[in-house]
Amino acid sequence: MSDVELVLRSTRVITPEGTRPATVAVADGRITAVLPYDADVPADARLEDLGDDVLMPGLVDTHVHVNDPGRTEWEGFWTATRAAAAGGITTLVDMPLNSLPPTTTVDNLRTKKDVAADKAHIDVGFWGGALPVNVKDLRPLHESGVFGFKAFLSPSGVDEFPHLNQDQLAQSLAEIASFDGLLIVHAEDPHHLDAAPQHGGPKYADFLASRPRDAEDTAIAQLIAQAKRLNARVHVLHLSSSDALPLIAEAKAEGVRITVETCPHYLTLTAEEVPDGASEFKCCPPIREAANQDLLWQALADGTIDCVVTDHSPSTADLKTDDFATAWGGISGLQLSLAAVWTEARRRGHGLEDVVRWMSARTAALVGLGRKGAIEAGRDADFAVLAPDETFTVDPAALQHRNRVTAYAGKTLYGVVKSTWLRGERIVADGEFTEPKGQLLTRDH
Ligand SMILES: [Zn+2]
Repeated sequence: MSDVELVLRSTRVITPEGTRPATVAVADGRITAVLPYDADVPADARLEDLGDDVLMPGLVDTHVHVNDPGRTEWEGFWTATRAAAAGGITTLVDMPLNSLPPTTTVDNLRTKKDVAADKAHIDVGFWGGALPVNVKDLRPLHESGVFGFKAFLSPSGVDEFPHLNQDQLAQSLAEIASFDGLLIVHAEDPHHLDAAPQHGGPKYADFLASRPRDAEDTAIAQLIAQAKRLNARVHVLHLSSSDALPLIAEAKAEGVRITVETCPHYLTLTAEEVPDGASEFKCCPPIREAANQDLLWQALADGTIDCVVTDHSPSTADLKTDDFATAWGGISGLQLSLAAVWTEARRRGHGLEDVVRWMSARTAALVGLGRKGAIEAGRDADFAVLAPDETFTVDPAALQHRNRVTAYAGKTLYGVVKSTWLRGERIVADGEFTEPKGQLLTRDH
């Protein structure tokens, strides 16, 4: 342990083998060893004794809309990565849309990286986008290190990012399968959406009826069929409909290469509690009923759903009008995702180890980041230090997001993030941030 620079000690360290008292040794930004609690500290190493606060791996959030450049009045790399760091997230992967340009060519990826480089408080990677017109750009983007490709099967909400029809999906997926890439999909079928009643207005029940479960279920069934035919890797984004779970479980059992995420808002908020006109709760697919939520939790517990990500997708407050049909759809969750999920997980009898598996280990694995997602020798020294039994009440004024609009306002949540560490450096503690120390990540393999 001669070159160890830093040692973190806690009575509760979450490792892949479980939670235990331990001492974690760090050199050059990497974990070199996880040692017994009372292990000797090398003379020239700094000791951080965390007492009974939990030392857990920093979260890896693979679904974030940073919107930078182009819609920086909505969000940006500086604010998004600070909010993430404050919430215990140490890696995010940026979605290819809502920025201008979208990440659909190698040139556009370069533009985004130039913008992100000196603003990233945490590590940042990039998804590419699959559009009807950019099949030829997919392989070059893959070779430039994007983690996979996002496609919509229904309108995305922004004109510059059109959705794929089934033929275009087949074409893009065949190309992506040719280099064994990953396609991540917003799965709602446009025909079912068109057929649903579209009343508009402030009533949440009307909005919910306009985005029915069968739109999700049908799109997921079609995606499974295409993935099976091409032996392609696909990932279902932000699953909301519990009716799709049997299809997914069956596909997984058959060996279809499919993974699935859901989001904190589907797991912790319910349709029954959304006030009319409260479009801070609007997202697509929508937050559904409490009974649906129970089934999502069951699916997380049994592994049908793999992971939990924020789908942080903010806009300016003026776009959050009280008409659900026209208000911007997207929920800002970066800073609160850990506490929100932990609060509900805890109530349902899950441990923090489960939360770490869903929000760090599995998301790191989804994007193949072998250096992230666990406290074990060889991984990056990325940590969240959490007081899991302390509570706080969500005050929008305390958020680091550019627009302090939140569906969680006034909620009392368990889990206070005391500090967040990136490659062995404490990047935030008690609301004080260091200068940005994040790196831009490319796919490992
Ligand atoms: Zn999204």
